[in-house]
Amino acid sequence: MTGNAIDRWQKSYCPYCGVGCGLLAGIKDGAVAKIKGDSEHPSSRGDLCLKAVYLPETLRTDDRLLYPQIRSCQEGPFKRASWQQTFKYLANRFRQIIDDHGPEAVAFYGSGQLTTEEYYVGNKLAKGFLGSNNFDTNSRLCMASAVAGYKTSLGADGPPVAYDDIDAANCFLLIGSNTADCHPVIFKRIKQRKLKAPDDVMIICVDPRRTETADFADLHLPIRPGSDIALLNAMLHVLIEQNLLDHEFIAAHVNGFAELRETVKNYSPKTAEEICVIPECLIVEAALIFGKARRALSLWSMGVNQSAVGVHKNNAIHNLHLATGQIGKPGAGPFSLTGQPNAMGGREVGGLSHMLPGYRSVENPRHREEVERFWGLPVGSIAPQAGLSALDMFDAAAQGKIKAIWILCTNPASSAPDLDVIEKALRQAELVVVQDAYHPTATTKFAHVLLPAAQWSEKEGVMTNSERRITYMPKLAEPPGEALADWQILTGFAREMGFAAGFPYESAEEIFAEYAALTENSLCDCSAASYARLKSDGPLQWPVTASSPAGTVRLYADGKFPTGDGKANFISIEHGGPVEDVDDQYPLLLTTGRLKVHWHTMTRTGKVEVLRKTSPEPILDLHRADARRFGIRDADFVEVISRRGKVMVQCRVTEELPKGTCFLPFHWGRDHGFFKAANNLTISARDPLSRQPELKACAVRVRQVVDFPLEDN
Ligand code: SF4
Repeated sequence: MTGNAIDRWQKSYCPYCGVGCGLLAGIKDGAVAKIKGDSEHPSSRGDLCLKAVYLPETLRTDDRLLYPQIRSCQEGPFKRASWQQTFKYLANRFRQIIDDHGPEAVAFYGSGQLTTEEYYVGNKLAKGFLGSNNFDTNSRLCMASAVAGYKTSLGADGPPVAYDDIDAANCFLLIGSNTADCHPVIFKRIKQRKLKAPDDVMIICVDPRRTETADFADLHLPIRPGSDIALLNAMLHVLIEQNLLDHEFIAAHVNGFAELRETVKNYSPKTAEEICVIPECLIVEAALIFGKARRALSLWSMGVNQSAVGVHKNNAIHNLHLATGQIGKPGAGPFSLTGQPNAMGGREVGGLSHMLPGYRSVENPRHREEVERFWGLPVGSIAPQAGLSALDMFDAAAQGKIKAIWILCTNPASSAPDLDVIEKALRQAELVVVQDAYHPTATTKFAHVLLPAAQWSEKEGVMTNSERRITYMPKLAEPPGEALADWQILTGFAREMGFAAGFPYESAEEIFAEYAALTENSLCDCSAASYARLKSDGPLQWPVTASSPAGTVRLYADGKFPTGDGKANFISIEHGGPVEDVDDQYPLLLTTGRLKVHWHTMTRTGKVEVLRKTSPEPILDLHRADARRFGIRDADFVEVISRRGKVMVQCRVTEELPKGTCFLPFHWGRDHGFFKAANNLTISARDPLSRQPELKACAVRVRQVVDFPLEDN
């Protein structure tokens, strides 16, 4: 054994993206020292991307938050406090605010980085015991439109497919997803499928930018941001004209075809060409590839969801699958890729402000009563209206209606759109509680109370990935200082509030057992899962029930959907462009997105030198023709200005995106330099149903910061 030898390897789960790769963590002297892929994890089969490899460097950093701290005003110094003093202080403040202003004056803003158990405890506390449905999560910014899309089209949330379907698909429709950068391990699997059967597998990529994903695709449709519905309706138009529908499937399993057919009549490929700025022939080709495929799989993420018509974009994808019967069978189906490691778990436990555990709805009296009885609460304890969604919560705080906001495991002062509003909300609130592993962050700057949280590897719990697979994560090392698991912090506060009987938990395992029992007979039933089973049998795909204890690979294989009559719904929808279109003053459409080496607001990846050096600064991508139009050269520093704010960054002149469109990564917040934050520019317009914001399109203008003599680009 050398001095660097690892003491032991333990299985875990990647805490970055929704692919949910299995990890092997090498423990040395009680700390995580090395990471490699877990070849036994069925979702990733030993693969990993670079972010996970460098996880050890993010754990014991100088900016770890080590003990609770309190200050009376945002300008004052923090004072260290014990956990007991902190819980007492918080309980007094919450009681006073609720007494004075009602429970709707308090709010919790969580994260898809929380474990399922932590999500569950937070929801139970807010919705059941405090009487406030204002528990929402940053998943609202990520997949709320996918949730509402599945619910309206198929009857319930939950991706019906599995990663195994990648190995069987003949056609991939990748839409609004730079899979190569954002879900690298899935992209690798798609590539392997294509390379194994190059003539039998076709990949269509719909993305304004020529990304690595688009580059690998057989067909790239460089769509104008915000015009997806016109494209998808036109594809269906072609399928109807070419008689490439599955009429038997439609008749037996879907409602609403006649109305849909009337709607898409108006979306000829020629019409779509004008809206999407894609040649008509490419639209027809995409439709024919999809329609003729034996098995078609659509994969999408933020490019579809982050839109003021995000739900309808999801519906339009489902329409294609339902019309062709491409669902419920191997290699086929609509697959929304989740952004975060436990975005799915958050959906299952009711982590959105309109939901309750087990895909129940706050607005459904029967669902409320089931949960109230289960939690031992009097009937009527849960408020009957949906709480405020993420951005509505911040709006309400900015207007003085939310007095206390408790932020867990996320960094909205960097990640949310239109940062001026978020900062105003955080300044306006009487009490800002931030529970995080690190300090300072863009958000902790506004805290009155800082709560040190244990992070990945320092606590146990489960998470669910994009394919509904639940993985158990053991505690691998002790948290630093006085940091506690998020569920322990919430439980301590709940007990101080006088709710000890409802929060008797001494372990995450007890919480999971309670939650799993509450899911019985729901679509996301995991009542036959337990820590013991997850440890011995490995990760399981829900539903995991007494009748299917090994889990369920794909949903709706029997053609029965969880609706009143067992049929899915075609949703007829019209094209709706970006809320803020270009004009003379703001002639470019800005779209934002991720880079391969960074994660969200870089509170972790920004600490890894090799990742930081790979992409040290935000760069604006600008089309060559637009660069000429505005007198900008490659590598110039430019001001990017929207109706909400300004960014100053270097510019890369390129032809990898359409004329009239520019791109800026969103990872940098104001704490990295005020004018580096893409969210100075973005718009907080949101989908009326999902309340997901339109982070993918807003109007901007650009100008060179320093006037150099103009040369040809
Ligand atoms: S693909 Fe996602 S889950 Fe897998 S290692 Fe990379 S960041 Fe982690």
